[in-house]
Amino acid sequence: MNAPLLARAVPVQGCDAPPVLRERGQREVFCGLTGIMWLHRKIQDAFFLIVGSRTCAHLMQSAAGVMIFAEPRFATAIIEEKDLAGLADANAELDAVVTRLLERRPDIKLLFLVGSCPSEVIKLDLSRAALRLGQRFAPQVRVLNYSGSGIETTFTQGEDACLTALVPTLPAEPAGSEKSLLVVGVLADAVEDQFRRLFRAMGIERVAFLPARRAGEMPAVGPDTSYLLVQPFLGETARALENRGAMRLAAPFPLGAEGTTGWLRAAANAFGVTDAAFEAAIAAPRERANRALEHSRAALAGRRIFFFPDSQLEIPIARFLHRELGMELVEVGTPYLHKDHLAADLALLPAGVQLSEGQDVDRQLDRCLAAAPDITVCGLGLANPLEDRGLTTKWAIELVFTPIQGFEQAGDLAELFARPLNRRAALEV
Ligand code: SF4
Repeated sequence: MNAPLLARAVPVQGCDAPPVLRERGQREVFCGLTGIMWLHRKIQDAFFLIVGSRTCAHLMQSAAGVMIFAEPRFATAIIEEKDLAGLADANAELDAVVTRLLERRPDIKLLFLVGSCPSEVIKLDLSRAALRLGQRFAPQVRVLNYSGSGIETTFTQGEDACLTALVPTLPAEPAGSEKSLLVVGVLADAVEDQFRRLFRAMGIERVAFLPARRAGEMPAVGPDTSYLLVQPFLGETARALENRGAMRLAAPFPLGAEGTTGWLRAAANAFGVTDAAFEAAIAAPRERANRALEHSRAALAGRRIFFFPDSQLEIPIARFLHRELGMELVEVGTPYLHKDHLAADLALLPAGVQLSEGQDVDRQLDRCLAAAPDITVCGLGLANPLEDRGLTTKWAIELVFTPIQGFEQAGDLAELFARPLNRRAALEV
């Protein structure tokens, strides 16, 4: 994608904040369709129908290539050339595809029509299509829409767009309800269960997760809802929740022992949990997390890491790798920097760290090659060329596919970075 070149350093906030290099040039990222890979696993009775081209279908097929489904939970309705040329009624064709799908699959309770670059180019109005089809198939199936288009977006924005579409459909908390906690963002079921147990151990009982595992169990929201984000890429979802009256709890993201402690602490403070109850609930798992990190510290301490902007997880992960494993941050690139949602993580970064927002890939490649970091976090498209130049890389997309949040996953998160370094060391012997 080409755009006018622009690079300038501007402060994030206040005078103590590290300067941010803002770049608006050619970018190397996946599109928001990729989010379907983890969203479809989470909402077990949902179906994601991409309204796109053969390119979109190929992307999904290669991303999901290793999975074999008896009944897949996503597919692509292909926009053909006659649709692009305006020779066919794309709406009528879409209605026919959806009707066939829902007749054949009564297990589907929530259908997402997912827009793509081609559907945007032909200006196919999927919100009207979702309304029309939603009326036809109610109450058995709810039909929603969002865009996964790669035009000016990055791949984790697909989850943000999906959850934003869900928020207006959430039931309202009855007025005067007891205060409740909403955990927002896709988590692996095992991680969700761990957090639920920790909140219960602290005495916080009214806890719900967005998205829920089933369409009929989506949480209620209202002015008595406090929410915690599990991902830094949910800016639009947060805005939609606040429009429903919910209030965000400011916290670092739950990555590593320190981040998870801070994240849980924000809930504990909001719900009046005593220090003693908080410590009693988290002491053992925090200790397990710290012990698990020991394993990777020898491989990572003092090693230099460079982040290309990709998943939007870069800043909390950089904070974790620097503070808990002693890594040196060469450059931390992120596609978008949400300074409010990332404030707690930014405050924990070392003074003078080089942050960059957006991308001008050629310039960033020059900086990366000149710096010769020990490990580089980047998208799949850059990994092979960088490996070819002798750099060790980590695929950013793995950070979204792998359960990394919470105390029990801290060791695995560190291991994701230690493994490529250990592998290269072994190859060089
Ligand atoms: S949505 Fe756009 S960027 Fe994504 S696969 Fe389809 S055409 Fe490519």
